[in-house]
Amino acid sequence: MTLPGSEMSLPLDILGLTSDAFAAAARFALPKGHGIARLLYPQVMYAGRLAVEDHPVSVDTVAAFRQHFTVGLLEVVRVVEEPGEFGTTAKAILKTHDGYEVECVRIPMRRTRPMSDVRGPMSPPVDETSDIGHRTSDQEDTDYTLCLSSQVGCKMGCTFCETGRMGLIRHLTAAEIVSEVVTVRAKLGWPVRNLVFMGMGEALDNADHVIQALKVLTDKRGLHYSQERITICTAGHAEGLAKLAALNWKRLNLSISLNAANDEARSRVMPVNRKTPLAELQRILAAYPQRKNFTLGVNYCLMPGMNDARQDATDVAAFCKPLGRVLINLIPYNPGNAPLTRAPDEDEIVRFIGWLREDGLPVRRRITKGRSIMAACGQLGNVELRKKPRVTPSVPAGDA
Ligand code: SF4
Repeated sequence: MTLPGSEMSLPLDILGLTSDAFAAAARFALPKGHGIARLLYPQVMYAGRLAVEDHPVSVDTVAAFRQHFTVGLLEVVRVVEEPGEFGTTAKAILKTHDGYEVECVRIPMRRTRPMSDVRGPMSPPVDETSDIGHRTSDQEDTDYTLCLSSQVGCKMGCTFCETGRMGLIRHLTAAEIVSEVVTVRAKLGWPVRNLVFMGMGEALDNADHVIQALKVLTDKRGLHYSQERITICTAGHAEGLAKLAALNWKRLNLSISLNAANDEARSRVMPVNRKTPLAELQRILAAYPQRKNFTLGVNYCLMPGMNDARQDATDVAAFCKPLGRVLINLIPYNPGNAPLTRAPDEDEIVRFIGWLREDGLPVRRRITKGRSIMAACGQLGNVELRKKPRVTPSVPAGDA
């Protein structure tokens, strides 16, 4: 049997479905299944269990649900941790049902104002070195952001990135993306307040599944993440940006990995720039539907000798000028297994931040977290997976 209007065969993984889609599928599967599905959905999303037997239903109903639906939690292979000033950064290595490992990272963040509250380029420079310095003794001042993977590997080939060295092995399905969140919450007890698609993979290269996952993650009958708590990060995938723009979810956060603001340098480190050069990317971002107080995140990985000159800061300012409110997230380069250069020293970081601010840009410095456990930006991935056979990307998610 196939769910009406979808290509998905049974059993359906509930983690890839909104509550409405689950209810519709349950109604199709058995009489009164719709109402039971409504009761089951929150428990599936929060506890990762399909506990039909917890409800006063017949044995046949339990059997029918088990036949038609499943909850695809991922296997936790291992967790590695790095204690830090604000809390422990932890990387979970999770295994899909077909044996691929994906990684997601829990990052402690000092509780701050949302991005939308940060002042724009016309404001005087503010101290946005938010992750540095004083920590209150109150651990409740820490929020946790989960950095999610959207693909096994990535085909974008950014030269500074460990995942890029793997190539694309396959997309994750919407259910698998949601399962990262449900698995770490249910199996590891991780509190997760914010979600950022900045783990393995280019999220917008897998836009259909990512968008379906967004619909599930924000479903008010389930995990109910607000759009403001979710950030999509992209290297500049034009087709994916068009799909995301068509959603018209103006409260969703968006960030772009810039890393160089002249075409020659950017094409060298980010091959996507050859397909979508900076002027075209700038045009797409300027046209992106924005809420009134929208702030575009601009991620800049500082690589000594490659993109840290005075002119580079000027180029970043010129690129950002037509984009409205922006916030530069300055990320010191994390050398991985095949380093392009060294990590920048403190003087180089402070100097570059100073230049950006001179040019009127608000800057938030990302303190390096998780470098010792290969969980920092650009360090996720297992190059060994390149030896595994590629598989055809999974079917589209079954939710309208
Ligand atoms: S930085 Fe992002 S887009 Fe670039 S190769 Fe790595 S995972 Fe892919």
